[in-house]
Amino acid sequence: MREQGFFGRPESAGRSDPTMEGSNIRPPQPLIQELLGCLGNGLLSGGQMLGEIPASGGAYVLLLHLERAVTIELPRLDPDPIPAGWHLYAGSANGPGGLRARLTRHFRPHKKPHWHIDRLTIIKAPEAAFSIPSGNECAIVSSLIASRAFRFTSPGFGATDCRQCQSHLLTWRR
Ligand SMILES: [Zn+2]
Repeated sequence: MREQGFFGRPESAGRSDPTMEGSNIRPPQPLIQELLGCLGNGLLSGGQMLGEIPASGGAYVLLLHLERAVTIELPRLDPDPIPAGWHLYAGSANGPGGLRARLTRHFRPHKKPHWHIDRLTIIKAPEAAFSIPSGNECAIVSSLIASRAFRFTSPGFGATDCRQCQSHLLTWRR
């Protein structure tokens, strides 16, 4: 399970970019512990850089922090404000380049929005991410919800094709 990793925002992302809000904030330890508990693995072996993320497919969790609530217009969904605080987004990457390519995209501020999450990461880059090779995004969501430490935010977000989850975006109830 060495590949299950955590990394902070890359040095280059968002620092001098006026379109990006805020600075790099390290996720609080209670949040990390809660997340690791849900993922069923207590291994957190220092920082892992984007280049070290496996190019294989699997699931991932993004950790995002919003200083203030934001409302994002999503096609076919009613706009629902995402509150200030810590949020987790669960996704999967099974295309070319796997987890490494997808996570690199999520940390890049300039991109043409394709997924719902792009509209959020354009405004605010993730603070960190976990890669879970051969993991399943919906299984991650149910495990996080079952812990009662997280709740669904923005119904339908990232989940328009999902019949199981209300949303793939969750808010930490701290
Ligand atoms: Zn789902």
